[in-house]
Amino acid sequence: MIDNSLITLNENAVENNIAFLRKKLGDKVKISAVVKANAYGHGIEQIVPVFEKYGIDHYSAFYYSEAVRVFDSLSKPATIMVMGWLCDKSIGDAIEKGIEFFVFNIERLNIAIKYAKELNLKAKIHLEAETGMNRSGLNIDELENAIAIIKENIEYIEISGFCTHLAGAESVSNFLRIQNQLKKYKKMLATLEANDLSPKYKHVANSAAAFVYPKARMDLVRIGIMLYGFWSSSEVYVQYINRKSNKIDPLKRILGWQSQIMAVKKVKSGEFVGYGISYLAQSNITTALVPVGYSFGYSRSLSNKGRVLIRGHRCSVIGVVNMNMIIVDVTHAGDTKVGDEVVLIGKQDELEIKVSAFSEISDQLNYEVLAHLLETIKRIVI
Ligand SMILES: *Cc1c(COP(=O)(O)O)cnc(C)c1O
Repeated sequence: MIDNSLITLNENAVENNIAFLRKKLGDKVKISAVVKANAYGHGIEQIVPVFEKYGIDHYSAFYYSEAVRVFDSLSKPATIMVMGWLCDKSIGDAIEKGIEFFVFNIERLNIAIKYAKELNLKAKIHLEAETGMNRSGLNIDELENAIAIIKENIEYIEISGFCTHLAGAESVSNFLRIQNQLKKYKKMLATLEANDLSPKYKHVANSAAAFVYPKARMDLVRIGIMLYGFWSSSEVYVQYINRKSNKIDPLKRILGWQSQIMAVKKVKSGEFVGYGISYLAQSNITTALVPVGYSFGYSRSLSNKGRVLIRGHRCSVIGVVNMNMIIVDVTHAGDTKVGDEVVLIGKQDELEIKVSAFSEISDQLNYEVLAHLLETIKRIVI
């Protein structure tokens, strides 16, 4: 574990976000917590027990290895589904552990049946329909083929879900495409049901779709970004908040990231700071060195642009972001000392560095900033 910085996870925020989502989605809609990319950088091992504490019992991972980490982090049984990659051998392991997975081609269906027969167990699968994103999923011919195969092997297959993914619900410019996807999904679902195969869960929505297209909630939603306290896009947020008289964001950010000053230095006017010539001191300044760089997820695109909080002041990153360090101008932050707290994400006194600010100054999505937070940074729940 690397101790140059610390990621804190606010349990109250988790409770708040889950309560808000439950209230909005109603009790007929199951929430599957999406925990891909190390739970959006929050840390699977740290956040899953907190989700569990507040009643989440359904999880969506991308990799089988993430699904196993969720499995190992739970204290009571829950449903875990792999939306993406598992190698053939892992399909057998998944079936043994009762871990569910998406089936988006005939190859995977046949492998699932092969292992299920060997193990004499049922493979719990989610049939993924290709409805217009053209990423993964069974088209209508493949679905019909899959139905025939499943009917022949019905003692080895449980259809836990019938699903698809929408191609950009967070932007209104995709409205028509998404309406077409929903229509296609309905048609394919009808084909499945006409064959007396009814999935346990019908699901198509991520966070954005769950809010922008209420019809898309069906009986399960796969919620990632909003659980962690972020809106999928400012469009989705504005659309929600516009209808409210109270303009306070109902979501709370869970994650904070702090480090500390490792050295303080005076730099004379006219000197360059850091590598190359990207920053020139225009006056005598005081700089602080912080042991966090791009190898920890503090993007190089924040060179000469990032902001951190020190002693209740906003301070600018000057020069380029290094692999393990940044240099910050603390001239106006008062009497800075080695060991002072540096907030990279989150609050200090009245000020806050929001992940969304990263996207404004460096063209990174919320998702991207979070997903890049290095897995070995220590994480604690507060
Ligand atoms: C990532 C993902 C989600 C969750 O998306 P959010 O925008 O974070 O809610 C849902 N479904 C699939 C297939 C995904 O890959």
